[in-house]
Amino acid sequence: MAKTKYVFVTGGVASSLGKGILASSLGKLLQERGFSVTIQKLDPYINVDPGTLNPYEHGECFVTDDGAETDLDLGHYERFLNVSTSQANNVTTGKIYLTVIQKERRGDYLGKTVQVIPHITDEIKRRIQMLGETGRYDVVITEIGGTVGDIESLPYIEAVRQLKWEMGQDNAIVLHLTLLPFLSASGELKTKPTQHSVKMLLEAGVQCDILACRTEFNIDDDMRRKIALFCNIEPSAVVEAVDADTIYDVPLFMKDEGLDREVLRKLNLPTGQEPKLIEWKEFLTRFKNPTGEVNIGLIGKYVELKDSYLSIHEALVHAGVKNDVKTNIIRIHSEDLEELSDEEVARELGDLDGILVAPGFGSRGIEGKIKAIKYARTGNVPFFGICLGMQCAVIEFARNVLHLHGANSSEMDDTTKFPVIHLQKDQVDVVDKGGTMRLGLYSCKIKKGTNAFAAYGEQYISERHRHRYEFNNSYAEEFEKGGMITTGVNPEKSLVEIVEIPSHRWFTAVQFHPEYRSTVLNPHPVFTEFIKHALIFRKEKSSPAKKKKTAAV
Ligand code: GLN
Repeated sequence: MAKTKYVFVTGGVASSLGKGILASSLGKLLQERGFSVTIQKLDPYINVDPGTLNPYEHGECFVTDDGAETDLDLGHYERFLNVSTSQANNVTTGKIYLTVIQKERRGDYLGKTVQVIPHITDEIKRRIQMLGETGRYDVVITEIGGTVGDIESLPYIEAVRQLKWEMGQDNAIVLHLTLLPFLSASGELKTKPTQHSVKMLLEAGVQCDILACRTEFNIDDDMRRKIALFCNIEPSAVVEAVDADTIYDVPLFMKDEGLDREVLRKLNLPTGQEPKLIEWKEFLTRFKNPTGEVNIGLIGKYVELKDSYLSIHEALVHAGVKNDVKTNIIRIHSEDLEELSDEEVARELGDLDGILVAPGFGSRGIEGKIKAIKYARTGNVPFFGICLGMQCAVIEFARNVLHLHGANSSEMDDTTKFPVIHLQKDQVDVVDKGGTMRLGLYSCKIKKGTNAFAAYGEQYISERHRHRYEFNNSYAEEFEKGGMITTGVNPEKSLVEIVEIPSHRWFTAVQFHPEYRSTVLNPHPVFTEFIKHALIFRKEKSSPAKKKKTAAV
């Protein structure tokens, strides 16, 4: 196989311009042309991984098959490319320094002064090339987090400079994403910040090869030529990245702008077949032409920030499209429900066609989640619990159906008389917080004739995990008798993976995180079933004649 080529994606002028979406879109287009592509994210923070970060800091923590806790951009990569990423796809400054310091302690650099250049930059370069060296990829796209000029990202830019130099023109290029701000007073898009940003890259010794300019309005040829002239690039290498209604439009916009052609030309690769994006376009057509809508309540404690539940949000969107409806996601703060009476909760959640209780850690907002679950269970409203959402469903059932007063998870109350959720055995001696949960892909055996089986259509599945606590199996019989049954179990550890209430129209709660595996081309089956049942419920609500009895429990 030919040598792997590298595209580095950097950002300038402002943060949050969408480097991850740009990288994913480019990856998608190259993939459609028949290239094998992967995307890597380099994050310039000192945490070893984002696993210990509050979602308010950095959005959700994404989990890979092999159990890496990673930046949420890896979720975009997977959703766009429909391929799995791994540990190697997310590198942080923390990981780099940890490795270098461990090597230093081992004596690998004996006699030498360990410095940012060359030791840190060498480690960055090694991590960048690790994916390429597997021989599995024609192109590795490496996104450098942060904005050019940040102190934190300097070693990364230096590593890019060195790699570009070592690998040569045709093998490594830089795609720089900037912003063309619109000044309403003069009614113009301004190019100066972009010029400065390119200059700042140049000061670090890096000439960008392609410029993507984020803009609210289309840019004309004159502006393209002007930007090209000031930034030492060809006009064909100035790519307009105009604001899109949905992130899923961006690959098509980038195709129209010829980004993929330009990248291939610069990397001296054959252009391959024109990207047809047939399934992608089909998805978009359905996305933009829904035949109805459904209201889903997302109950969580980080709801102010959309990115905190990004994968759940996207999985709900994918599942809506699969059902040809628009999913209206209504974010409800679990803390806001805590002081409400049952009637007030019913009023607050009354317009919802389905309720999803989100994952989380710690006790804040937990009682609100439990109240929402009580409403869903007793009101026969389709319910989907994920991870902590499942654990809360178990607690609610224990308290209100099995009358185990004060039942709780030992995470929230380690003195509870009824620890229906408790710490996994192999977590008891764990002291370090980072990377020590039950993480990544584990298998689950599903009972036939259940909601889970209806969704997956098979008995053996595997899903990604991120938790320390689990259902306490000593209560299993009591729950079965009471009407909440285990429908999915991890065969190796008998760990409960899925619970359901068969007398309810659709009450499904999972210990794993199905949201991480939903992609544009493969919406997740449990999310799809959830939306399907929410839709049925919605239709029934609007035709009262057909209204069903409420749940039996
Ligand atoms: N805090 C719970 C646990 O550690 C749930 C985790 C989660 O929702 N991801 O088990």
